[in-house]
Amino acid sequence: MVPPQTTPRAKQRRGEGQWALGYREPLNPNERSKKDDNPLNVRTRIENIYAHGGFDSIDPADLRGRFRWYGLYTQRKPGIDGGRTATLEPEELDDEYFMLRVRIDGGRLTTQQLALIGELSQTYARDTADITDRQNIQYHWIRIEDVPTIWQKLEAAGLTTMEACGDSPRVILGSPVAGIAQDEVIDGSPAIDEILTRYIGDPRFSNLPRKFKTAISGLQDVAHEVHDIAFVGVNHPEHGPGFDLWVGGGLSTNPMLGKRLGTWIPLDEVPDVWEGVISVFRDYGYRRLRHRARIKFLVADWGPEKFRQILQDEYLKRELVDGPAPEALPQARDHIGVHPQKDGLFYVGAAPIAGRVSGSTLVEVAKVVERAGSGRVRLTPQQKLIVLDVPESEIKTLQADLAKLGLQTEPSPWRRGVMACTGIEFCKLAIVETKARAVDLVSTLETSLKDIVDGVSAPISVHINGCPNSCARIQTADIGLKGQIVTDADGNQVEGFQVHLGGGLGLDAGFGRKLRGHKVTADELSDYVERVVRNFVAQRTEDERFAQ
Ligand code: SF4
Repeated sequence: MVPPQTTPRAKQRRGEGQWALGYREPLNPNERSKKDDNPLNVRTRIENIYAHGGFDSIDPADLRGRFRWYGLYTQRKPGIDGGRTATLEPEELDDEYFMLRVRIDGGRLTTQQLALIGELSQTYARDTADITDRQNIQYHWIRIEDVPTIWQKLEAAGLTTMEACGDSPRVILGSPVAGIAQDEVIDGSPAIDEILTRYIGDPRFSNLPRKFKTAISGLQDVAHEVHDIAFVGVNHPEHGPGFDLWVGGGLSTNPMLGKRLGTWIPLDEVPDVWEGVISVFRDYGYRRLRHRARIKFLVADWGPEKFRQILQDEYLKRELVDGPAPEALPQARDHIGVHPQKDGLFYVGAAPIAGRVSGSTLVEVAKVVERAGSGRVRLTPQQKLIVLDVPESEIKTLQADLAKLGLQTEPSPWRRGVMACTGIEFCKLAIVETKARAVDLVSTLETSLKDIVDGVSAPISVHINGCPNSCARIQTADIGLKGQIVTDADGNQVEGFQVHLGGGLGLDAGFGRKLRGHKVTADELSDYVERVVRNFVAQRTEDERFAQ
């Protein structure tokens, strides 16, 4: 007997929830919440109701859904171990305090803005401030009562938390040295500014199937390969400097590298093309299953040729110009150290460990930067900080002042190469500790690997995640560490990591290999990394990269 074909047919009828194909009825609770009320409307309720009524007055649909559109997540209740993360209900994990993410597009800050961010942290966030790997600043311990005041102060300084999280166009990554780098192909900053002005907070793009991450850079320094959309500087043989368009990159549990559409986009057309791509995503993106909703799944199913055709035919209503691929760089650039700018001044890149600073540190950084004659700093996608526009005569003093604040400008390869996500200290999805572990790891390796530091010509990246999500881009690290509960030698269930080895971006971009059985307990972590690095340095051929 032929089995009934109800399941495939039902699936076809239901489809993937793509609006453009007529599927408008929400197919999961997240889609329902966004349809019930545009998430951007939650701001009014925060200002008028929740900030007065306190935590208990917050509607759960806002608390665990729409708040994200303004950079707000509840943080993890202290004291809940990682083994219980998956077993508890969301309300059991929720603390009454919030993480608040300030979007800093292109990582661009003036010293006044930096000082304000630091002061707000001192007043409202128990002096917490992390530089994230998306060039944001993340606060913790925020009370809902204080949020409207924080917004007022941030906005008066030209900063915002709008669409810092949620199914929306999030912070736009840009080269930290845009406009000053001697070797950039093109400065993408005007396109970033135009996109912010035209589209951030625009209700047409505030209900996407999932988050939408953008990178725009005339240098290859923003991990463009793993973005939903990326514009990468390239010289066209006839048309000159412009951008190569990539779509469909992303990490998390189904990592994919972005695909080139084979087009060349001039600077002034970047915002229109960005609007076209985000519109394709909004209309054709999959909304049935959250774990298949990023644009990468659509691009993987369609292929870059079909994606380009739909973009051109249905949205831009014109053909795009064909263009060449940018020449891949051997290694992602992090801008640490002292570098000449094209105007005769210098930029100085400094490394906190895994982005962990504090409000007080940022206030002091603003002062020493101004003393050095500069008014501009940049945050980087590697969780680092760069001071721009430094006169040569001020470099040494600035370096010494930054070092006193824990920001080394000639860091060890480990301090330079370590990144870590938020982890169990504050993140509700976390299984293990990350930031404190990164600090321990760096200090241990700086002692234990002192004898071979000269043999390590480039930083070896060690990225630490607190769970299977990939906020710290573990698949693109030389040594990627995915937090999980593992069994130790005595049979105990303890914090540990699944190891991924040999990932990288740029030339030979690819994801690290997950080696079966390659797990390490948190207590063994520094010994393990030391062994891996020693083996690599002892066995490598000249100029061999870790990923090869
Ligand atoms: Fe939280 Fe996991 Fe992301 Fe780390 S990787 S910040 S633990 S969701």
